[in-house]
Parts: sequence; C-alpha cells; structure tokens
Amino acid sequence: MDPSNSILQFLNTIPIPMVVLANLKIIVAGITTFLALLNHGFDSVMDPIPLFSPSTNYDFIIVGGGSAGAVVANRLSTNPNFKVLLLEAGGNPTVLNSIPAMAMSNMRNPYTDWMTRSEPLNTSCLACKDNLITISRGKMLGGSSSLNVMVYMRGNPNDFDNWANLTGDASWSYENVLPYFKKSEDYTGNYPDPKYHGTGGPLSVTAQPDDPLTRDWMSAAREMGFSNSDPNAEFVKQAFVPIDHTMKDGRRWSTYNAFIQPVLHRRNFKVIRYAHVTKVNFDSTKRAVGVSYIKNGRTFTATASKEVVLSAGGIGSPHVLMLSGIGHSDHLKSFGRFEYRICRSVHSESFRYREIVHKLCNVRGGSWAPMISCLCYTCQTGEGGSRKLRIYGWLLKSELQLTKNINYFAHKGPLASNAMTAIGLFSTDQPPEPNWPNLYAILHPIGIHKSFGEDFDYFFGFKEGTMKSYCNPYHWC
Ligand SMILES: Cc1cc2nc3c(=O)[nH]c(=O)nc-3n(C[C@H](O)[C@H](O)[C@H](O)COP(=O)(O)OP(=O)(O)OC[C@H]3O[C@@H](n4cnc5c(N)ncnc54)[C@H](O)[C@@H]3O)c2cc1C
Repeated sequence: MDPSNSILQFLNTIPIPMVVLANLKIIVAGITTFLALLNHGFDSVMDPIPLFSPSTNYDFIIVGGGSAGAVVANRLSTNPNFKVLLLEAGGNPTVLNSIPAMAMSNMRNPYTDWMTRSEPLNTSCLACKDNLITISRGKMLGGSSSLNVMVYMRGNPNDFDNWANLTGDASWSYENVLPYFKKSEDYTGNYPDPKYHGTGGPLSVTAQPDDPLTRDWMSAAREMGFSNSDPNAEFVKQAFVPIDHTMKDGRRWSTYNAFIQPVLHRRNFKVIRYAHVTKVNFDSTKRAVGVSYIKNGRTFTATASKEVVLSAGGIGSPHVLMLSGIGHSDHLKSFGRFEYRICRSVHSESFRYREIVHKLCNVRGGSWAPMISCLCYTCQTGEGGSRKLRIYGWLLKSELQLTKNINYFAHKGPLASNAMTAIGLFSTDQPPEPNWPNLYAILHPIGIHKSFGEDFDYFFGFKEGTMKSYCNPYHWC
C-alpha cells in the first residue's frame, strides 16, 4: 500500500475538534486582532511619518479605499500625469478576511470593522440588543468588500433609471452604467452572456461548485413556476437562482485584491494606511483644496490641486462632510463646536438630496424598497434514494475532517465556500411587479452546530437567545 495513502486515510479519521467550532468566534477574534496589530506595527515601521513622504501635494486625494475608493484610485492613477493619494483609516485586510467561510466570523472586530451603532429605537429593532442596530462596515483597504459575504448583485435596472430621473442626470441610467460593470468584470459565473458580462477586467466574479441542496432548492422553485435567469441581467424576473460571487480560486476577491494591490507599484500613486481623515479643507472661495488626517496620533494635511474625492462609505462620507462644516445648519449648530462653512448653495443642495432620498424611500408604498431576509435551512433528507435521514450541506461531519479543510490550500473544500449558494427574488407588491422584486431570500446550505445561534446573535447584535431559539431544535452536533 502506498504510504502516502495510508497517511491520508489516517488524517481522514481526524475530525476538527468540536471545541474549535464551539469557540470559533473567540478563536477568529483572537487571530484577527493579532494579525491586525501586526499589520499596524509593520506600517508604523515602514511608513511612520507621512510628512516625510516625497510630497504632500497631489492632484487627487481619495478618502477611503473601499469598494468605490479602490476603483477611483486605480482609474485615476492610470494616467501617469496625475499624482494620486489614497487615505485609508484601516490597514491591509488579514489573511482571515480572504477565507470565504470566515465571512460572518470576521465581523465585529474593532480593528477591521467600524461597528457603528444606531440610536436606540422604540418601535423597531426590538430583537436587537438595546433596541439598536449594529452596522458592520469594513475598516481596511477594500472597505466593506473585504468584510462582506461576496454575493455579486448589481442594483436593479429600475433603480438606476429612477436615480437618472430623480437627479436629471442620464449618466446614472442602467444603459449608461452597464458598460462599466462589464469593463470591471473577469466573469466566469453562472450566466456567461456577453450582453451583460465582461471578461479580462480586474474584478473576478465566479460561480461556486455545485451542491446537492442548491439543486433541490432550485428544482422546487422550478416546480412552483419560478424562472432561473441571471439576477444581474436587464430585468430581474421573479427567480430562484444560483448566485455569482466576488471570489477567485476559492478566495475572497475584494476591491483591494482587484484594484489596489495590482497597482501599488505605480510611482504616481501613494497609499497612506491608518490615516483617519477628519476634515476637508477649503480655500477662501469655498473650494475643497485638501484634507486633514490623523495618523499615529499626529495631525497632518495634504493638498489637492484638482479634486478631493470622498469615498468613505454611506456613513463615513457624510460624517467627514459634517466634520468639515457641511450639512444641515441647524443640525451642525446643535453640536456647537464647528466652524461653519455652509453656503446657501450647499445648504439648498442638502435639502435637494434629502428630498431625493425621501422620494426613493417612498417610491414603493412608504417603506424602503428592498427587504432582505435570511433563511437558514438545516435539511434532513434521503440521499441516493434511501430514506435515511441526514443533513446535507457543507457542514457534514465528513466535511469537518482535517483533510477536507486542508484542501483550502488547493483552493477548494468547505473553507473555500461562503456557504451562501442561491437566492430567491420575488415581489410581494399587489399586483406583483415581476421586474422589480422586493423580497430577497438567501439559501445557506449548511448544517448547524449548536453554537451557531449564539454566534449569529453576537455578530448581528441580536438579543441573547433570539437566533438560538430558532436554531437549537435543529442543531446536529
Ligand atoms: C457584513 C456585510 C455584508 C455585506 N454583504 C454584501 C454582499 O454579499 N453583496 C453585496 O453586494 N454587498 C454586500 N454588502 C454591502 C457592500 O459591501 C457595501 O455596500 C459596499 O462595499 C460599500 O462600498 P463603499 O465604497 O460605499 O464603502 P466601503 O466599502 O465601506 O468603503 C469605505 C472606506 O472608507 C474608509 N473610511 C471611512 N471613514 C474614513 C475616514 N474618516 N478616513 C479615512 N478612511 C475612512 C473605511 O475604512 C472603508 O475602507 C455587505 C456589507 C457588509 C458590511
């Protein structure tokens, strides 16, 4: 007998100890903290005092290297005549961020997640701890694309067209944004139609390996008359479909991997990590001319001769604007300590955008259009025609073998999956709007360990026992 075979057979008998699964959140938190501190220490040695970098004058300054900022930084620095500075409050993602199966466990670490909390609410968030929502946001290069669950979903075409109408700017229409989606993609997903997808771009979009539960889910949906069409194509029908992922060879493919890492060598492109931007600076004509930021406890400034681009995310960008004195005057004055820079045009712009947001929120009957719902199934079913009950999904006992997980280094196995394989899109409007679904169901084809409910409560900020009460009757190990 080949000795390597017997070693493999021996390894196959070694399961991952249950104690690892039961304490996954503590183990991941410990490793992430250690790696993030190591990253920060390394950066402090390599790039300690940004003032000594060759120049603090740039053509463009980009604030925030997340999903949007990474793309803008890459595109602007393509032109060697532009000097481009990217300021990011976090550091590099850690190796754990690149493991798809760790997507949930990576949330809620203060070194890589801003862990924003909403105000306590009286009439909603009743299942959440202190009645407030914990909003995860990536705090590292790649931003939330280094923390998210990697589902590749573009917006609905109707939403883009709606933005074009509301802003009076046709460049937002679906027809006009589609070529940019295609240009970004290196598509090897489930729906290779060149009308909607591109190849050769920096962003890898892939399909996950086939799995039996997803197949069953899809065939059940087909029996009920739902179609199986590309959710990112022109009109998203009511459909149950396998999803595409921003992954490459079984690893997360964030905008850091796609747009920043490959161009770090550009001489006209400078990235400063752990640089927390506190303010946009203006000249006497109220033109943005640079930013102030804090790194390693010291405040620095950088100037931009062309533009300052704010791409600090849906919460970070308005925050920096408000810190710079731009926003609703009454609201800013209530904080008392700001130097106001509110000119009438900015003031009235903010009202205009408020009106647009208000319209968008009310477009579909007075509530936010998309409702997101997570369904977790523990499926007990017969395999191979037998009626023997067993759970199938990636978290089988057999999937917990050491060798299966070592397979991650060969770009496959359970760790190379984000355990989210299919979605269902449908409309609850009456009459239904088939091209504009408002309900989004997600299939997690995984078995459940008894710590799952508790972990879910922790990562999503639910009151203790909320998810546990749903999951516990079904856990199997
Ligand atoms: C847990 C989670 C799961 C998700 N799952 C999915 C999914 O499966 N599919 C999907 O399509 N979308 C998903 N999303 C949403 C998606 O990731 C975000 O909508 C998208 O990444 C937002 O991009 P952005 O560029 O606006 O902001 P971000 O990507 O968040 O980037 C903002 C960047 O700015 C930096 N920053 C903020 N403030 C400052 C400051 N003052 N100074 C310097 N830097 C600053 C941040 O550190 C961050 O790097 C998910 C999000 C989360 C958090």
